[in-house]
Amino acid sequence: MSTLYSLQQNRLNSSQNAQPRVGVSACLLGRKVRFDGGHKNNQLIVSSLSKHLELKPVCPEVEAGFSTPRAAMQLRKNGEQIRLVINKAPFQDVTGQMNDYIHAKLDSLAGLDGFIFKKDSPSCGAFRVPVVINQDGYRNRDAVGLFAGAFRERFPLIPIEEEGRLNDSALRENFFERVYAYQRWKMIPDAMHNVKGLIEFHARHKLMLMGRGSHYYQELGRLVADTTRSNLAHRRSAYIDRFMQVMTLLSRPGRQVNVMQHIMGYLKPFISAEDKQELLAVFEAYRQQELPLITPITLLSHHLRVHPQPYINQQHYLDPFPRQLALRSLL
Ligand code: SF4
Repeated sequence: MSTLYSLQQNRLNSSQNAQPRVGVSACLLGRKVRFDGGHKNNQLIVSSLSKHLELKPVCPEVEAGFSTPRAAMQLRKNGEQIRLVINKAPFQDVTGQMNDYIHAKLDSLAGLDGFIFKKDSPSCGAFRVPVVINQDGYRNRDAVGLFAGAFRERFPLIPIEEEGRLNDSALRENFFERVYAYQRWKMIPDAMHNVKGLIEFHARHKLMLMGRGSHYYQELGRLVADTTRSNLAHRRSAYIDRFMQVMTLLSRPGRQVNVMQHIMGYLKPFISAEDKQELLAVFEAYRQQELPLITPITLLSHHLRVHPQPYINQQHYLDPFPRQLALRSLL
């Protein structure tokens, strides 16, 4: 590794010490902002994640000027349009008031590295939000809250998740892998905003991409390989668009084992036959979902501490987010 690259990488690693900034629907942080004057305090977010993330509370309804307590709102379909209305006759349409707030607010959220939304909310729900589709009150679950939808459209690269889905360990890990990868992308030092910087970002995420499928690493590699100074801006944009899409894919145990065997290949000259057998047995137990991913990852990390491998050490695969989050699990 070149001295320049090492220096740049040190800067990158120290900048990574900054906690990712993650927006959160304010009621999930215990703020009494809900229509009934209550909150939806989420223990996982408040107790665990808040130690590692800089959380930015946002309550679109209160910030848009609605009082607390207030009448509940709902989404209603009106022709092809989805409107935000007060949930009691005469069903006052407040879409304009919310949209005015959203347009004024979004720019201030550009620096976020992720957002955790409250599920089912007509303002904050990010997936499968109920929408009333006829006079009988019949609902479909295929809408998106007004604020969450506008956020996603304005910032398609910023990872989003709902609080309910964070209870699923695979989705939770995937979300934080994306948050930290996106933060790394944004914090690439200015000196590395060149073709070399793109190549190195891609190289350091090789194993993480291969955990989703080696063809994704190759596909993104073709984008990198064709990059020149003249098409750099376009290629950087195309690269991060596709990279963040690929990162939403959940890695399967079989693919994770392939990656870990690849890492083990670097250790083979240095570890005993017994150590190799133990690693293979732990990989297999993980593949059979008898052990969580943290077990083979910890064992590999132990051997890498004893026998450092510079190439593996510069990969983000083994530590995609702080170990203290203790999120690595059965995937
Ligand atoms: S779901 Fe969103 S709009 Fe509703 S109370 Fe929570 S933060 Fe406010």
